[in-house]
Amino acid sequence: LEAKGEFSHKTLAMDVMRPRRNDPILTAITQDSMTVEDIEAIISETTYSGFPIVVSRESQRLMGFVLRRDLIISIESARKKQEGIVSTSRIYFTEHTPTQPTTAPPSLKLRAIMDLSPFTITDQTPMEIVVDIFRKLGLRQCLVTHNGRLLGIITKKDVLKHIAQMANQDPDSILFN
Ligand code: ADP
Repeated sequence: LEAKGEFSHKTLAMDVMRPRRNDPILTAITQDSMTVEDIEAIISETTYSGFPIVVSRESQRLMGFVLRRDLIISIESARKKQEGIVSTSRIYFTEHTPTQPTTAPPSLKLRAIMDLSPFTITDQTPMEIVVDIFRKLGLRQCLVTHNGRLLGIITKKDVLKHIAQMANQDPDSILFN
């Protein structure tokens, strides 16, 4: 309802989200095209607490979100207990899995550990509103999209750092206690 100009100086979600401009793209998992070893590589090469799940690399359309610890537990347990699960087994987060060629190893279905509706905002959302949403909903992270494509992620810690930058104070002393 306010004049557009009044918002132009404000920090937006796109200014706080990761990855930053010129950084490599977000580490996401595709819903039906990765193998056990692909995902194990992502787990060992990154330390992120979670990963968005997208329809495909090309579309970057968001399907859900999976926590790192749930991935680790599920893959470890499947490797031990589930007949035929090997490095080349395909991992599916989809509802239905295609019939595999008889030569392919059994696939691993992980839809059950995916959060089907992770909280999402657009890149143009003012940080003021983002901070409010994090406080009111107690979010750990929030995904950022533009025209339906996944662009980035903002974690609670990112929000706290932003607040600290704004206020130049100890982030733990405000808003989240
Ligand atoms: P925290 O922010 O609590 O340290 P993480 O370890 O998950 O949580 O994230 C560390 C940093 O990496 C944050 O700045 C966050 O925005 C970013 N990040 C989180 N998940 C991903 C991801 N899947 N791909 C790229 N960057 C991510």
